[in-house]
Amino acid sequence: MPTQRPRVVILGAGFGGLSCAQALRRADADMTIVDRQNYHCFQPLLYQVATAALSPADVAWPIRHILRRQSNATVLMTEVTGIDTAKQLVTTTSGLFPFDFLVIATGAMHSYFGHDSWAGFAPGLKRIEDATRIRRSILSAFEQAELTDDDEQRRKLLTFVIVGGGPTGVEMAGAIAEVARQTLKRDFRRIDPRTARIILIEAGPRLLPAFSERHSHYAKDALAAMGVEVLTSTLVTGCDAYGVDLAHGRIDAGSVIWAAGVMASPAADWLAADRDRAGRIIVGPDLSLPRHENIFVIGDTAAVNDAAGHPVPGLAAAAKQMGIYAGRLIAARLSGRTLPPFHYKNLGVLATIGRRSAVVELGPLQLQGFVGWLFWSMVHIYFLIGLRNRFVVALTWLWSYITFQRGARLITEVPPPRSQG
Ligand SMILES: Cc1cc2nc3c(=O)[nH]c(=O)nc-3n(C[C@H](O)[C@H](O)[C@H](O)COP(=O)(O)OP(=O)(O)OC[C@H]3O[C@@H](n4cnc5c(N)ncnc54)[C@H](O)[C@@H]3O)c2cc1C
Repeated sequence: MPTQRPRVVILGAGFGGLSCAQALRRADADMTIVDRQNYHCFQPLLYQVATAALSPADVAWPIRHILRRQSNATVLMTEVTGIDTAKQLVTTTSGLFPFDFLVIATGAMHSYFGHDSWAGFAPGLKRIEDATRIRRSILSAFEQAELTDDDEQRRKLLTFVIVGGGPTGVEMAGAIAEVARQTLKRDFRRIDPRTARIILIEAGPRLLPAFSERHSHYAKDALAAMGVEVLTSTLVTGCDAYGVDLAHGRIDAGSVIWAAGVMASPAADWLAADRDRAGRIIVGPDLSLPRHENIFVIGDTAAVNDAAGHPVPGLAAAAKQMGIYAGRLIAARLSGRTLPPFHYKNLGVLATIGRRSAVVELGPLQLQGFVGWLFWSMVHIYFLIGLRNRFVVALTWLWSYITFQRGARLITEVPPPRSQG
């Protein structure tokens, strides 16, 4: 239907885009939310899908269901390919969309630091498809190890390398160790899953660089106690189907998982905009694109500093704050007002290490161990969307806490047998 109301187009329904759409729910405007997938994904729990603790539907929700009560919002599933700022048009694989206000919230993707060919051997974790692919790879490694009579091949199949010692790498390493040492320990007859090697490689001098040194050491010790080999100050120089090359030596491995770097979505190319080294668009204090006060860039795609001049981190909480701000600013502009510049409120960082340990740094609140894990669990359950998901996830964690079991151990789309070089 033709409309006289201002048209707000939001690209991406992740944490930033969805918060923006919700902040505009009472605005006298017509909103179009464009996303290439039909669901909003709670990325902080993707590693639990990758390690068979949760099912995809526990951490993702249809976007149009989330916004079903918002009558001024239309959700369209299509891929954005470009933006014409002069004509105020968004180009997608399904056609052109005109806008009066544009909010770009297309997030980030993996970065292989210029070695894009590694992506085929070392999947990263960003989307549901990545999580199920990694789950398939981990579970298939055990199945194929059970099949082979070759000890050397078995050893390689049961070697899991995780590259990157940030929260995702630490969480993946801890979860794979639990799969091998606890969940699967009685399920095989020809192999002992507990002999699996889990190796976490970090290029920097310590794990969890965004946390205090105390919590970095704690994470390293907790992982070591779970049987994870942690290699810090170790650079991966090569990656192929059979393992990784290091600056000093090589590790043969059946599975390599990439948790080392992110690069912003290609929005900077669409806009020919100035960007930082991670490809994030440099925006003004009100998150608008320089010289385009009706175009906003938020979340992992935006480079903006906090009050102390430090870059706002690529976190869900930051993306949400930016989304709410951009939505409120557009609503204010529509009613002839404006807002002071965006102000980032640092809510802190959390990371879990296995099923009963976590580190938490929320200002004065510093937790580790089981208390940290309880806090981490409550925060994540609170932020999940929908009562059903909160209930299912809480119950699943409780069950898995008591039994060590992981219910989502399905290998879908069986991969071809691996030949080990
Ligand atoms: C494995 C993992 C674990 C994480 N853990 C934590 C954590 O514990 N705590 C925390 O605070 N943060 C965590 N993060 C970071 C957090 O998820 C991001 O900072 C946050 O998602 C950024 O929000 P966003 O809205 O910018 O982008 P996203 O949430 O990534 O949303 C981007 C949206 O844009 C869509 N999109 C992208 N390109 C296109 C296109 N061309 N056309 C159409 N649609 C497109 C995508 O489908 C997606 O829905 C984690 C991230 C990952 C990957």
